[in-house]
Amino acid sequence: MRRAEKKLRKAQRELSRKQKGSNNRAKARLKVARAHAKVADARREFHHQLSTQLISESQGIAVEDLSVAGLARTKLAKSVHDAGWAQFLSMLEYKAQRYGRTLVKIGRFEPTSQTCSTCGVKDGPKPLSIREWTCSACGTVHDRDTNAALNVKTAAGLAVSACGAPVRPGAIPAQREETGSHGFPTGNRAA
Ligand SMILES: [Zn+2]
Repeated sequence: MRRAEKKLRKAQRELSRKQKGSNNRAKARLKVARAHAKVADARREFHHQLSTQLISESQGIAVEDLSVAGLARTKLAKSVHDAGWAQFLSMLEYKAQRYGRTLVKIGRFEPTSQTCSTCGVKDGPKPLSIREWTCSACGTVHDRDTNAALNVKTAAGLAVSACGAPVRPGAIPAQREETGSHGFPTGNRAA
C-alpha cells in the first residue's frame, strides 16, 4: 500500500508540473486516477488480510467505533485511515459473524487515552505527541496506544459480562456458530 501511495504522490507531482489544457496534462491526470485506484485496491487487500488474521486469532474483538480522527493521527494511522476504517469495520463484522467470533464496538464516550488501564484514574488530556506517560496515581508507565487498547478491551468486557450480552448502545454480538465451519452462508452481513 505504501508503494502504491508513493507512486500516487509522484503522479500528483508530475500532474502539477503540466501546463493547463495540454495533452500531457490530460495523460498525467489519467495516471493520477489510476494511481488512486491502486491505492484503494491495496488498502482493501490489506484490510482483508488484517481482518482475517484478527478473526482467526481471536475469539473476541473489541473496537472503538467513532474514533477515526483520533486514531488516524497515532502510529496506527495506516491501519485506520479514515477512508478505510468503515470498510475495515464492516469486514471485521461479517467475518466475526461467519466464524462465530464476538465483536464488540464501544463508542467514543470513554476517554481511552487519558485513563490509566491499571488503576482507572483519569490522568488528564495527553497531547498526541506524548507516546508514553506515567500514571500520577499508581506510577505505571504506559505506551499510549497499548493503554488505550486495554481500556477499549475493558469497556467491551464490562458491556458483555453485565448480563451475558452486550448492553451498551452500538455493541454488536456476533452470532455464535461452530468455528471452522467454512461452508457457513455469507449472505447476512451486518450493516
Ligand atoms: Zn494508574
